Amino acid sequence: MIRPAELIEQKRNGGEHDPAELAELILAYARDEVPDYQLAAWCMAVYFRGLSAAETDALTDAMIRSGETLDLGSLLGRKVVDKHSTGGVGDKTSIAVGPTVAACGVPIGKMSGRGLGHTGGTLDKLESIPGFRVELTTEEFVAQLREVGIAIVGQTADLVPADKKLYALRDVTATVDIVPLIASSIMSKKLAAGAEAIVLDVKVGDGAFMRTLDDARVLAEQMRDIGLRAGREVTCLLTDMDQPLGRAVGNALEVEEARDTVRGDGPEDFTELVLDASARLLAHSDLGIDVEEGRRRAEAALEDGSALEAYERWIRAQGGDPDPSALERAPVRRPVSAPRDGAVRRVGARAVGLAALELGAGRRTKTDPIDHAVGILCFAKRGDTVLAGDDLAEVHARDDASADRCAEAVLAAYELGDEPPEERGILLDVVE
Ligand code: URA
Repeated sequence: MIRPAELIEQKRNGGEHDPAELAELILAYARDEVPDYQLAAWCMAVYFRGLSAAETDALTDAMIRSGETLDLGSLLGRKVVDKHSTGGVGDKTSIAVGPTVAACGVPIGKMSGRGLGHTGGTLDKLESIPGFRVELTTEEFVAQLREVGIAIVGQTADLVPADKKLYALRDVTATVDIVPLIASSIMSKKLAAGAEAIVLDVKVGDGAFMRTLDDARVLAEQMRDIGLRAGREVTCLLTDMDQPLGRAVGNALEVEEARDTVRGDGPEDFTELVLDASARLLAHSDLGIDVEEGRRRAEAALEDGSALEAYERWIRAQGGDPDPSALERAPVRRPVSAPRDGAVRRVGARAVGLAALELGAGRRTKTDPIDHAVGILCFAKRGDTVLAGDDLAEVHARDDASADRCAEAVLAAYELGDEPPEERGILLDVVE
């Protein structure tokens, strides 16, 4: 039997755990046999001392073993691809990539998470669609994948329960932004869900967990290595999260923007990310095509209406109404006007995310209710030129007081200057 206090001390002193002992610590924690305070102390020791590759594998493997696993490939008789984002502001990528890939004939079954803090979660966004069910049984999930080609659901209680518990603990003990813990948290869920190929969208910048490209690269490499050691194919896209993705931030607004994008009418940066991620998923699939051909097929799906059809089929299959007019609208709209002529040098992603959170679009604690209708539309993005009085953004709020507060915060998130900053695309690097 392991003694948690000894493992905490070993890690605190910079030692390396025996993989079997580390696995036992995590599994005992998942069984409620080790208290939160000991795991919290261990996480903090990991913050300062890190984990070796062998320790990270042992942690990932123990998290997977804490619950059930799915073998989607065998259940469907096809190679299954999956994507995951490390989290950002305005990140509705899965809602558009899913139908795009499905329209190209590749099944995509995803388990997504909820938002916390200034970052949004795909499940919360999908729940802004009236009637949409995020909780499907495993049988329903597999049946829908077979019949409709796409299903996005919440993580079931049986899949990687150790991560659920550990993530909640990390969230309140300042131990979220630790590379090996993020890598094993994300990869344990992807491996347990059975995907053979995984595209990871690693966000970089002010609105992401990883603030610099170097840190993001380290996280990407660790996730890739976990995947490779488990025999999976992994591509990591390092993408810009210094400004919100697309225009919309807030649940129903983001669903509408994702729908606009699958019918070929999305904002430029978001469309580019959707096409790139879709192309790479298609290239990893059993279609036997390369990224360039994947890109051509993804573009065709947005143009010829097939991605929109897949979107509508999917939303209906999960009980939702795909018509955008069914989405709830916030009663108050407040423009945010440019105070001067100039070029947009920055739109602080974190500040916009926090402003949306204050409106009620996110939750501060796991049990807070979400207001699906509120949010922010950022019309002006980095590099755009504006005239004094132009609308930089628009706040969608529940009442006048929150609209005023939010408009002030959004204005402060914009930095205007005389010259536009150096041009930078959404895709910063690829690690594979
Ligand atoms: N997303 C996850 O699923 N886990 C983390 O640790 C961080 C982001």
